[in-house]
Amino acid sequence: MTSLDDLPIRDDLRGLTPYGAPQLEVPVRLNVNENAYRVPEAVALDIVQEIARALPEANRYPDRDFDTLRGAFADYLGHGLEPAQIWAGNGSNEVLQHVLQAFGGPGRSLLSFTPTYSMYPLLAQGVGMEWVPVPRAADFTLTPEAVRAAIAEHDPDVVFLCSPNNPTGTAIGLDVVEAAAEAARGIVLVDEAYAEFAHDRSQTALTLLERFPRLLVSRTMSKAFAFAGIRVGYLAADPAVIDALRLVRLPYHLSAITQAAAIAALRHSDEMLARVDALREQRDRIVDELAALGLQPHPSDANFVLVGGIADPARTFRSLLDRGILVRDVGLPGTLRITAGTPGETTALLAAMAELLAE
Ligand SMILES: *Cc1c(COP(=O)(O)O)cnc(C)c1O
Repeated sequence: MTSLDDLPIRDDLRGLTPYGAPQLEVPVRLNVNENAYRVPEAVALDIVQEIARALPEANRYPDRDFDTLRGAFADYLGHGLEPAQIWAGNGSNEVLQHVLQAFGGPGRSLLSFTPTYSMYPLLAQGVGMEWVPVPRAADFTLTPEAVRAAIAEHDPDVVFLCSPNNPTGTAIGLDVVEAAAEAARGIVLVDEAYAEFAHDRSQTALTLLERFPRLLVSRTMSKAFAFAGIRVGYLAADPAVIDALRLVRLPYHLSAITQAAAIAALRHSDEMLARVDALREQRDRIVDELAALGLQPHPSDANFVLVGGIADPARTFRSLLDRGILVRDVGLPGTLRITAGTPGETTALLAAMAELLAE
């Protein structure tokens, strides 16, 4: 047996830890922002039939450019987008990796505003980029001025703006995205993984794509479409950007099964978005009820809430786990991050929090 330390691993990977949110089999899982609802039976059946149609041809490589799926994403997103403006990967994490492989790499830098998605520094590290974290204001909001100043100071090659932001739930205004797109010399990507959960869904950076050819907007089916287990993320941008991403993807990276599953699921977007509405209600309920209990939930446009005012987060985390409820300690002092669940799951969470606070 050898150990990691004995291997000739890249120097810049020594001592790092991989992404690793706990995967525990407990009754109420509110820790990784999954969609609390299972894939509806009728949707699952349609997906299985679409896969069944694709399977006899599995001896051939899949459609390398996934044209049908790109058309389906363009239709779903609207805003006049064409299939030539769409890219997809096995989860939006892969899409983000493609972006950094094409536009980042050694000697280049990725700037983002922290606290933000914990994968950004790992993705930067993976392609040998410098990671430039710029702290947000105390309430986690961003202003056009702050974004312009950070970009002027650090002159990054790539800027990631997460909106709504994970783990804080903060949505950023389109004026902030515009400021970044105007100020940056390189690529600006808006990670809209939680866009469907926003209070105002019309506030999407998709509306700015026409004006800014170096602006990219990424989305995922993991959250709104309850598809975390299938792995489908996508992106909209200028067709030239899509050409750049083609240079770094592995050949045939989207399997025929993945393409079939996503195409079928997108046919049911109305039904899936109705469940998103139900989850938005539970998200708002968590904010209202935990505030009434004296905690400090941050305003959220995502399917989770970052809750402040928790005296001992590690202890609250364990006490909730003892009651079969898994939440996330993202390492921000005095906080826990809680994903909105079904009404029943949310009731269990709120009852447990009330009990713990009364102790
Ligand atoms: C969940 C999440 C994603 C989506 O990841 P997938 O690889 O598509 O499952 C992307 N960005 C952020 C900020 C997320 O929280």
